[in-house]
Amino acid sequence: MTTSSVGAPAEVRERVDRLRADIARVAVDVGRDPEGVHVVAVTKTFPAEVVQLATDLGFPEVAENRVAELVQKHDDQRCAAVTTWHFIGQVQRNKARQVARYSDVIHSVDRPSLVEALSAAAVAEGRVLSCLIQLKQDNDPQRGGALPADLMEVAERIAAAPGLVLGGLMAMPAPDLDPAEAYRAAAAEHRRLLRTYPTATTFSAGMTGDWPAAVAAGATHLRLGAAIVGPRAPRAH
Ligand SMILES: *Cc1c(COP(=O)(O)O)cnc(C)c1O
Repeated sequence: MTTSSVGAPAEVRERVDRLRADIARVAVDVGRDPEGVHVVAVTKTFPAEVVQLATDLGFPEVAENRVAELVQKHDDQRCAAVTTWHFIGQVQRNKARQVARYSDVIHSVDRPSLVEALSAAAVAEGRVLSCLIQLKQDNDPQRGGALPADLMEVAERIAAAPGLVLGGLMAMPAPDLDPAEAYRAAAAEHRRLLRTYPTATTFSAGMTGDWPAAVAAGATHLRLGAAIVGPRAPRAH
């Protein structure tokens, strides 16, 4: 894939300037300080040049959802300006070691067995990982996440695990849910988490198609792909 789908830099800059202004306006409209809304650039499926483009545009926090892609980009010179690697895909326990080595924040922690694997991997790598619990708001077995009823157990495991810090909550509502409603419900779960775990300050919510609803609900971190780097080609597999 080439970067041509991203468009000319001037065009991208214009889109990103508009995006930043839109986020600030929506934040102010709902009574929030725009400084409290951070953007993580989702560069999955795009090559390393696009990661460089994202960092050049002022997005040093980057997210990937496949381990192989994360590993490849992490060690690429063109991705050297990334300050924080976010992992937003489902994690298989046998990939925990690579995730622990190459990412800083994991948005998709959803079960005690994964907490154990990540903790062991973080200790072995000598790293401290910020773990967000992915909230499950549907009954689709294909989609990851911890149900609200299981949230506190997963939180407790993370908080007690060597090498892990409970960073907060991540929500990614199924496409058939109303995003505003889903994000409000997720925000309530986030507040519940925060009452017991003061380190859990991150509420990761909002994608290109629905981020205003997430900002209104209190999202601290938006995960934006297409809004920054343009539309993705579908995966070949
Ligand atoms: C791909 C992805 C995003 C970003 O999607 P866009 O619609 O391109 O903004 C956000 N979160 C997760 C978990 C993703 O997999």
